[in-house]
Amino acid sequence: MDLTPKNVKQYIKDALANPGLKKAVDNATTTAVNKRRMLVEKTAYWEELRRRNHAAKREILADLAGNLERFEKHCHENHIQLLWASDSEEAKRLILDLAREKGVKKIVKSKSLTTEEIHLNPALIAAGIETIETDLGEYIVQLMDQIPSHLTMPALHLSRRDIGKLFHEKLGTPYTHEPVELLTIARRLLREHFLTADMGITGANFGVVDSGVVTIIENEANAHLTISLPRIHVAVMGIEKLVPDMKSLAYFLRVLAASATGQKSSCYVNFVGGPSRQKYGEGPEEVYVVLVDNGRTRMAKDPQLWETLACIRCGSCLNHCPVYQQVGGHAYGWVYMGPIGICLIPQFLGEDEGRLAPTMCSLCGECFVACPVRIDLPRHILELRRRVAEKGYTQGPERFGMAAWSQLVRHPVLYKLATWFPGKLQLLMPRGKSFPAPGYTKERSLPEFDTKGFRKRFNEMKEKSGK
Ligand code: SF4
Repeated sequence: MDLTPKNVKQYIKDALANPGLKKAVDNATTTAVNKRRMLVEKTAYWEELRRRNHAAKREILADLAGNLERFEKHCHENHIQLLWASDSEEAKRLILDLAREKGVKKIVKSKSLTTEEIHLNPALIAAGIETIETDLGEYIVQLMDQIPSHLTMPALHLSRRDIGKLFHEKLGTPYTHEPVELLTIARRLLREHFLTADMGITGANFGVVDSGVVTIIENEANAHLTISLPRIHVAVMGIEKLVPDMKSLAYFLRVLAASATGQKSSCYVNFVGGPSRQKYGEGPEEVYVVLVDNGRTRMAKDPQLWETLACIRCGSCLNHCPVYQQVGGHAYGWVYMGPIGICLIPQFLGEDEGRLAPTMCSLCGECFVACPVRIDLPRHILELRRRVAEKGYTQGPERFGMAAWSQLVRHPVLYKLATWFPGKLQLLMPRGKSFPAPGYTKERSLPEFDTKGFRKRFNEMKEKSGK
């Protein structure tokens, strides 16, 4: 699947023309939002957790280089080997070189957005290494030759029937859309791969600075098998994924599952503290952590947007976003989507390629409320819009609208007329009908214009309040 954020307009049109997609995204996000709400309402100290998490990430990002050095030292003590990658090409090269050196023929993978970001799978497959995703959602999108459409629920855009058809066509199994039967098919096939793989590649949710431990969180135990069955484990981790210590990790674990799926806790929390086969007779013989920069050092130095690196990829902002709910994840044209995606796309890919991303937002503010790390996403989206506009990437109607508005606010008589006139014109419309606006009113109605005008209304309010 070849997507680019430059084509988002076409992807949005395609998504809106697909009622099945809308239904699947709606079902999944509504369930996640409701389950999260019920859990958060019962957690009296939720806001305190958000504040602590924000403070922990601020502490990490304020001295990212120093924290990475400390993490490296503790990893070495644990016999974890670190590989540093300045960009996605270097990350791919390091992993490929390692796989070749160790004679790796087959790799099992668990869900990792960082490996999606560096496009690792196509590189491994092109090098002749069999590479199999083992998270059920990832396995499904890999069979479809797609990328995940959500940060935590990769196949959220598909229905059970879509998956049944896919398995029937690609795996040759009898058609079924029963979830347990579909799961049994995937489990049977994946088990064989776990047992015969030479290398397991995972992402990393957190790297704990003061102990040199990597934490991988999941619900299906596929990451556990990916870590523990092959002889080599490679964790691919963005350099911002650090947390100071185990105590702060506990606060993040408390919010991550709750925000992602409304669970009190994830089913499995894997702590990787070094190779264990020699010592315990099980687990990997060798453990590597690939630390991927790919622009993160630059992003951490940004006086405002550094905060977007505090993201723990829970997906809560996607579930709450009215734009994501309409179009799903592929419409964003890259591996990160939803409110956090539109902040990351221009930062990773540049303001030219990612210029349309920050427009995919209604500025309703729900994402900020839903974020367990208190990332002020709407403020960052506005900042990115400003930066994109300053580079001259504005559209004709937008420029015309802004020029007209600037004239109006500088000429009080014109302003008065402009705010009075639409209200009077509104009276000519049949009751309850709003003006048609090309494109906009195809999906919704414009609010009715005020028939009094701002000044009259303001003076009335002033009189009423007696000020
Ligand atoms: S920005 Fe916040 S809500 Fe969105 S995925 Fe990241 S941590 Fe979750």
